[in-house]
Amino acid sequence: MLETVDLAPRDAILGLTVAFNEDPRSEKVNLSVGVYQDEHGKTPTLGSVVEAENILAAGPSNKAYLPISGSPGYSEVVQELVFGPEYQTAGHLAGAHTPGGTGGLRVAADFLHANFPQATVWLSEPTWPNHPSVFAAAEVPTKTYPYFDQQTNSLAFEQMLAAIEKMPAGDVILLHGCCHNPTGIDPTAKEWQQIVQAVAKRGLLPFLDFAYQGFGDGLDEDAAGVREFRNAGGDLIVCSSFSKNFGLYRERVGALSIACATNDAATAVQSQINRAIRANYSNPPAHGAAIVETILRDQNLRETWEKELSAMRDRINGMRQQLVDSLEAKGVPGDYSFITRQRGMFSFSGLTKDQVEQLREQYAIYIVGSGRINVAGLTPANIDRVTEAIGAVVSKS
Ligand code: PLP
Repeated sequence: MLETVDLAPRDAILGLTVAFNEDPRSEKVNLSVGVYQDEHGKTPTLGSVVEAENILAAGPSNKAYLPISGSPGYSEVVQELVFGPEYQTAGHLAGAHTPGGTGGLRVAADFLHANFPQATVWLSEPTWPNHPSVFAAAEVPTKTYPYFDQQTNSLAFEQMLAAIEKMPAGDVILLHGCCHNPTGIDPTAKEWQQIVQAVAKRGLLPFLDFAYQGFGDGLDEDAAGVREFRNAGGDLIVCSSFSKNFGLYRERVGALSIACATNDAATAVQSQINRAIRANYSNPPAHGAAIVETILRDQNLRETWEKELSAMRDRINGMRQQLVDSLEAKGVPGDYSFITRQRGMFSFSGLTKDQVEQLREQYAIYIVGSGRINVAGLTPANIDRVTEAIGAVVSKS
């Protein structure tokens, strides 16, 4: 039987890293995968994480199973991080510790499939390429709403609102909490207010994918959209990832935080979330979440972590400015100032598929086909080579 199995296509983004690793050219630069790198091109383990691991290693060992939804203490600190200090008054909450943000998305997708089989999930166009795959795997139908205005490199806000106003009641709208992947373009505070009103008016269930809290403008600033929804008081699903902001990529740490209107609803939702987890991976891996819980509960460690997070954020925003300055200094045709207005790890550069291909083939610079650049992959050592190469391919077109 197994001889009949077809080869699956390479993952659009992770597949590029495989090709990058196989590339023998020493000057190669990987700007594709969404992993933070420091100015030396290394993905650091945060000092706060090392300290938390030392504390955990010195404590008693416990390898018994965690509850299905993970450590209850973890869900609580996550909810405080996501909804703010007032989180306990924010409504009736259900929650789960999930293996990464992707695990949270899949659990939520299974939950939606089991409980709202008629609902369609609306995704921004464009969105993270794994979104449609995760919902398809859970047999949840998806459609898209406009998000990006290519002409102005900004949010297509009017078109987005007009699309929301036509979505059928009972559908789910997936929004990126901050640092939209791949465009780097987020709604302003005022736009979030309008989105929240439109979503409530249509009777849609808001689902916020919150994978980059703290990578845009700050932990609280980046939660503006999530908290606008929370303050409006309706139902809300938030999926957090701690891969980027704690640098815990391979530990697979994420969470679902679900706000419900009543205590009974929260209890029922929790039971259905637990059911989805039980049939999927039974219960979560403990280590990464214990690190996050330890850091968030210890004032000193939390301060250290917040400083480390600020440093990552500042480096990315600094590289945005350097990228624009360097493109300008080299006289590359076009106005790239929009890059400094984008937030998070990614920038939709406006490079075409053909230009991206030339960059890979001729200059060993790896960028996702959509033109999405991981700004965190830029360093003082490679920026000139990158902007020179961009200049060469753009001038040729
Ligand atoms: N959501 C978005 C928008 C992402 O960009 C990512 C990671 O790239 C995730 C979710 C999932 O993150 P994790 O690695 O924690 O599964």
